[in-house]
Amino acid sequence: MKVHQVDLRSDTVTQPTKGMRDAMMRAPLGDDVWGDDPTVNTLQEQCADMFGKEAACFVPSGTMANQIAIRCHTQPGDEIILHKDSHIVHYEGGGAAALSGCSFALTDGARGFFTPEDVTALIRPDDAHFGRSKLVSLENTHNRGGGSVWPLDQLTAVCKTARDADLRTHLDGARIWHAIVASSLDAQTWGAPFETISACFSKGLGCPAGSVIMGSKETIRTARRIRKLFGGTMRQTGILAGAAIYALNHHVERLGEDHANAKTLAIGLSHIKGIASDVTHTDTNLVFFDIDRSLGDGDTFCRKLWQNGILAEALDPQRIRFVTHLGVTKTDIERAIQVTADLCHELD
Ligand SMILES: *Cc1c(COP(=O)(O)O)cnc(C)c1O
Repeated sequence: MKVHQVDLRSDTVTQPTKGMRDAMMRAPLGDDVWGDDPTVNTLQEQCADMFGKEAACFVPSGTMANQIAIRCHTQPGDEIILHKDSHIVHYEGGGAAALSGCSFALTDGARGFFTPEDVTALIRPDDAHFGRSKLVSLENTHNRGGGSVWPLDQLTAVCKTARDADLRTHLDGARIWHAIVASSLDAQTWGAPFETISACFSKGLGCPAGSVIMGSKETIRTARRIRKLFGGTMRQTGILAGAAIYALNHHVERLGEDHANAKTLAIGLSHIKGIASDVTHTDTNLVFFDIDRSLGDGDTFCRKLWQNGILAEALDPQRIRFVTHLGVTKTDIERAIQVTADLCHELD
């Protein structure tokens, strides 16, 4: 018998719903390189409005959105201040160095957060020996920080320190929708302190692809040049933008269900012997937990989970991540807890 699989690897596995597929098929199209795809234009306007920015540019991926933003803000030899666990540091192929010639000055801090003092400490004096401090980048929600939502006051203070020192500010908002829903604060509030914001539609919202970068008219004009340079311009992209518009209108509010499922999951896991899961730090849809060495390492444990129909990945040797999303039901969550508990007892 084929076991029903519960895919908790990532929220990138979500598939377009029927309503989304219909919206994609109906989307009016044009050639976006000529700027005349009406659906792309509508999406860009909708996003710029939502975040209180002048303009927006639709791009294929979150990585490209971040890399375009970095290139917009910097010159080769510049330095970017950001948390050591950032997506930009770990998962973008070394893009900041390869595509923009930038180095990193890394902050630390629990849950992916850092402070104005951390920024100040990393700003280089104006001296020919040093790279030029140019950009501060934050991630909200913070992925490796556990899907954590920044405290708004702290985020605002960090950006103010950056601006006061003439640094640019970028928000990697791949999962900003989660921060919006979990905090009940709107996109403008979260976006206001930043010069550029990137946001993903392909994480938990059901879209097959697509991200957006928002900023001033001038920055977005530059972003369009760089998108071309990086090979990211597309033609009848309204098919993808149509999915994104549908997602904004139908799949953002429901992220609250994923957060509730993640909480249930974190609580269930916290009761299992051999597992450490910090329930109070499950802000959104990512559930990180540590497994005791007596249960083997994370990769081995995940292989056993897979054999029982629970798909997950180890992010560190003893650390596993479960992700809830559009394609995961309450029943799936109960099953994931049960399978994990059974495995732990078996290995005990
Ligand atoms: C997923 C993600 C991105 C972008 O990923 P793509 O797969 O390129 O769309 C950027 N930042 C964070 C925090 C992410 O989780």
